[in-house]
Amino acid sequence: MIPNAIRAFISDFHQASVNNFITVGGGSINEAYKYSLNDTSYFVKFNNQIEGIIEKEVEALNAIDNLNCIATPQIICFKKLNGYEILILEFINSGIKSHQSWENFGRQLANMHKEPAPFYGWEENNFIGALEQSNKPQDNFRDFFIHQRLSPQLGLAKKKNLLSRNELKLFDKLFLNLPSILPDTKPSLVHGDLWSGNFIIGENDRPYLIDPAVHYSFREIDLAFTHLFGGFDSTFYDSYQNQYRLEPNFNERIDLYNLYPLLVHLNLFGTGYYHSVISSLKKYV
Ligand code: ADP
Repeated sequence: MIPNAIRAFISDFHQASVNNFITVGGGSINEAYKYSLNDTSYFVKFNNQIEGIIEKEVEALNAIDNLNCIATPQIICFKKLNGYEILILEFINSGIKSHQSWENFGRQLANMHKEPAPFYGWEENNFIGALEQSNKPQDNFRDFFIHQRLSPQLGLAKKKNLLSRNELKLFDKLFLNLPSILPDTKPSLVHGDLWSGNFIIGENDRPYLIDPAVHYSFREIDLAFTHLFGGFDSTFYDSYQNQYRLEPNFNERIDLYNLYPLLVHLNLFGTGYYHSVISSLKKYV
């Protein structure tokens, strides 16, 4: 149900009466609807539970858009109202996931990753799913991965009794092993949550990034994320590699990087993710 204040705000914003809201499913955190006006469709999402979550999304969409490499839905309006954050976006009609669209997606993501960034981290913390994501700037990826990514999640898992003392010790061992596992790294803007629910192939083979958790990191993070729940079409990876070749043996590091989203899932959704965390960890210690 859309609160009356949000309905009224949307009608005021467009200076027209808007009533044709249709629920859009698939999101896990925010409420989302589609509505149309004069043959144009809009996507609206709102949240009054997690302060700042939609505001950070706006900043993230702008950061991606500013690099001009890959599309994001146009931001129509962001508003704070009665404790809600409300975001109206251009509605992206889904097109066909064609060979050309995967080709475009791989190349455009690679182009985004080619843009250099000043450090690992971000100007401020943001969110990964419903959890706060720590982004204190670090000058090397190893420290960033340990201190801003894994350690905060391990602290939470410890507090929730989701990992034992011995398992936490194995993570310390992993940290010591990282110099021999990681290749040379460079920071660039990453989407930060690039699983298959966070992009849309629009019309005309045009990929759009949505729902980003941007920061500056090593680009392999984004590529690993694409493998988290099944992987993308092989054309995507070929196209990425043609544009910006990955360091050797990337495939052997996928589970390492995905320890972060798996720990996030463990902390958010509980023990169902425990075995995935431990089996990935054991590959590197
Ligand atoms: P949440 O923040 O709750 O995870 P999402 O932003 O992922 O929500 O959006 C929920 C659903 O809406 C997803 O299925 C997504 O594909 C779709 N969606 C998101 N943004 C748009 C948009 N601009 N146009 C059309 N569909 C969208």
